[in-house]
Amino acid sequence: MRTPSGPFDRGHTEDLMTFLAASPTPYHAVASAAERLEKAGFRQVEETEAWDGTTGGKYVLRGGAIVAWYVPEGVAAHTPFRIVGAHTDSPNLRVKPRPDAGGHGWRQVAVEIYGGPLLNSWLDRDLGLAGRLSLRDGTTRLVNIDRPLLRVPQLAIHMDRSVHTDGLKLDKQRHMQPVWGLGDDVHEGDLIRFLEDESGLGEGDVTGWDLMTYSVEPPAFLGRDRELVAGPRMDNLLSVHAATAALAAAASAETLPYIPVLAAFDHEENGSQSDTGADGPLLGSVLERSVFARGGTYEDRARAFAGTVCLSSDTGHAVHPNYAERHDPTHHPRANGGPILKVNVNNRYATDGAGRSVFAAACEKAGVPFQSFVSNNAMPCGTTIGPITAARHGIKTVDIGVAILSMHSVRELCGADDPYLLANALVAFLEG
Ligand code: ZN
Repeated sequence: MRTPSGPFDRGHTEDLMTFLAASPTPYHAVASAAERLEKAGFRQVEETEAWDGTTGGKYVLRGGAIVAWYVPEGVAAHTPFRIVGAHTDSPNLRVKPRPDAGGHGWRQVAVEIYGGPLLNSWLDRDLGLAGRLSLRDGTTRLVNIDRPLLRVPQLAIHMDRSVHTDGLKLDKQRHMQPVWGLGDDVHEGDLIRFLEDESGLGEGDVTGWDLMTYSVEPPAFLGRDRELVAGPRMDNLLSVHAATAALAAAASAETLPYIPVLAAFDHEENGSQSDTGADGPLLGSVLERSVFARGGTYEDRARAFAGTVCLSSDTGHAVHPNYAERHDPTHHPRANGGPILKVNVNNRYATDGAGRSVFAAACEKAGVPFQSFVSNNAMPCGTTIGPITAARHGIKTVDIGVAILSMHSVRELCGADDPYLLANALVAFLEG
């Protein structure tokens, strides 16, 4: 275990495990982040209200997205922002509009595939069900059935003898529908009535829903010396959690040359194009309103944006011992080797040389080592919210993150030191 020079240590990783377990959906994730920010003195502001120029910590919630910022004493209208960006969504199985299905004596829930999950990892897991219920009275509420409720049963090997020679072939429509009990008398509305009962609501109260399945197995330390963490949704709640902790810590700094910001978006896993995604106007609108609420002009807004830097934090790939040849031969990020700087010259990542210097300075100040990630030329490179943020708002952006294994599995794996090493680097960045 490393000796950290920033405010965070292994306790941060333990808190991450609590955060992951409490955040089965983007809606729960932003609630978990807001709860931590409230404890640090931040207060929610409504997008529908007029904003004022007061100092202190503030945040906006919109669906599965949160933007939070801290206005220090004596700040100018043109003071630039320092932003940590991340995303709250993870690939999973989501409930269809008419979910009540089944046959042959089994009750099933019809699901749609969200993003690009490793489908095999969802088989034979005990799944809970969580999300957001929209009620007849116009309000919404969170729901979380945190117990084994559903399962996508794998076909027995006796009926699929070629699975090891031809590979496991999963049809997204036919083979991924979970069972959730027994019975032949399946009726439309059964699942929603079950959720109304579980939530203490009356029949017909729920008129809309955004529901998704998740593995109920809690995160756990793993390895000979417990040097690893296994758990769900590290991509990318690991970054959301680290950024939330870093913003709360930065808010207690004595002086801040920048306005520190957390921006955690929904819908990264399917392209970010939504009112809560990184390709929407949410972040730009919040930053502009913050400038104007402090009496700034469009000139101040332009000056602030021109001096702003965003660290876009998302998970990347640690070198896989069984598939090392899939990585670039000279770039092998290791678990517990510190955060990664992600580079792709074709702008799948927004990092350039100047951005590298900004991140290197933050890591040096925090006493945190960092590693570089670049794809093998023969492999397509993933992407994230970094290039979108840079292009949409004209903001200098650097893509960074933490190297994990099993990205997009229902249960991912990371080093137990990396979450707090990332958080320490983020605080150093936000504090300037
Ligand atoms: Zn991600």
